Amino acid sequence: MSSVWDYAAAPESRDVVSVAAQYGLFIDGEFTPAADGRTFETVNPATEERLAGVAAAGPADVDRAVRAARSAYERVWGPMPGSQRAKYLYRIARILQERAREFAVLETLDNGKPIRESRDVDVPLAAAHFFYHAGWADKLGYAGFGAAPRPLGVAGQVIPWNFPLLMAAWKLAPALAAGNTCVLKPAETTPLTALLLASVCQQAGLPPGVVNVVTGAGDTGAALVTHPGVDKIAFTGSTEVGKEIRRALAGTGRRLTLELGGKAANVVYDDAPLDQAVEGIVNGIFFNQGHVCCAGSRLLVQESVAGPVVERLKRRIDTLRLGDPLDKNTDLGAINSRQQLDKIRELSASGEAEGAGRWSPQCELPSRGYWFPPTVFTGVSQSHRIAREEIFGPVLSVLTFRTPEEAVAKANNTPYGLSAGVWTEKGSRILWMAQRLRSGVVWANTYNRFDPASPFGGYRESGFGREGGRHGLEAYLDV
Ligand code: NDP
Repeated sequence: MSSVWDYAAAPESRDVVSVAAQYGLFIDGEFTPAADGRTFETVNPATEERLAGVAAAGPADVDRAVRAARSAYERVWGPMPGSQRAKYLYRIARILQERAREFAVLETLDNGKPIRESRDVDVPLAAAHFFYHAGWADKLGYAGFGAAPRPLGVAGQVIPWNFPLLMAAWKLAPALAAGNTCVLKPAETTPLTALLLASVCQQAGLPPGVVNVVTGAGDTGAALVTHPGVDKIAFTGSTEVGKEIRRALAGTGRRLTLELGGKAANVVYDDAPLDQAVEGIVNGIFFNQGHVCCAGSRLLVQESVAGPVVERLKRRIDTLRLGDPLDKNTDLGAINSRQQLDKIRELSASGEAEGAGRWSPQCELPSRGYWFPPTVFTGVSQSHRIAREEIFGPVLSVLTFRTPEEAVAKANNTPYGLSAGVWTEKGSRILWMAQRLRSGVVWANTYNRFDPASPFGGYRESGFGREGGRHGLEAYLDV
């Protein structure tokens, strides 16, 4: 893109991490091949280069992992005092910090996200989740769930590819703090940092079986969520798969939390500090290439300032740098997979076909790998697919409103309900909006802020249950 300044390349060295040719499953404290020897490959989406072969867990492997988790729960982790469990969690958190660069580079290689984000957001937040929950492990009796809340047992956890390490931390840290043991299924396209985290569990001396990692595709996830030995399922991913899981678990009595898709409105009023709002809009939709469930993918801008906001937005987008994710100057990295790229292309084409105006900056895309330029659609109406469906890519749909009532009605006109943003200088209007927006999180004059102490989760088709904070612990306690 036509950058204001040209920066010299500043690539992070990939020598800080050694990627093995082949990875095993992590079951009962050891890395092992799949029982039937099946494997799959994971590639660097920025180059399509093969990174590693990874074991594909079948039902027999999932069964072994669940049994290992059950045995560890009954013999070691369940009976262990919270103060002892805390020590392991603190240890994992500290090792994550010590090995932060290694994790950041591996995440960027496997996922395609810019190193700036994996280094400054994903890895520090993952460590923060372990630190935060380590603090709860010996204080569960003060969390408001009774004097001695009990864990649930074995947690089966299925996570997506957009924040592979961070989602692993969101799932494992509260479950372990509460006294549960875990079987984690990372996404097929991004298994490597979860496996590195498994080796950190070994390094921390975590008792075997407390954390197990079964890599594989959707069928591995399905084997885990339907396994009768699992007491609780926590899933983050698409609404479609979330619905399938809910159907599969109905009537089993097993606990379930779902964190699914979103189509968040980022609402900009005419009294907002516009340059600050433009930064928030850019962060809201282009952070992590828009592969974010709470991405601000619908910009609702007050009609009187729509022209200037869109103009400033385009000028700002023109300065974003797209390219090598390992380069520290890069703002936009690669799309995680061919399949996701196809989905973004198809939905963007529908935007044009349905009559919205499409704009992207002058932008040279690398010849190899999966890439999509930052894209803005104007003249979008609420019936357009790009205003209704989750694109999960760097594509913004701009709509306008005149009155606060109209802003609320349009923001809530979605089957989802995960997040929203409000930009205005009036505190009273922020509170008025927050009371009316049907979304789990409302950010005011900021966007995409996360903290382990703050509960996160949705309404309606965005799922149910909360992760983080005191509320997140509840999902792993028998209360
Ligand atoms: P999925 O929901 O398919 O993937 C999420 C996780 O579930 C992955 O680990 C996946 O495994 C696993 N999985 C797939 N099928 C099943 C099943 N039947 N039972 C149990 N687990 C299963 O998301 P996709 O990767 O297919 O992405 C599709 C769309 O979903 C995206 O375009 C985006 O719109 C949305 N999405 C939303 C996310 C969010 O955070 N809200 C995160 C990811 C995607 P595997 O990777 O091996 O298929």
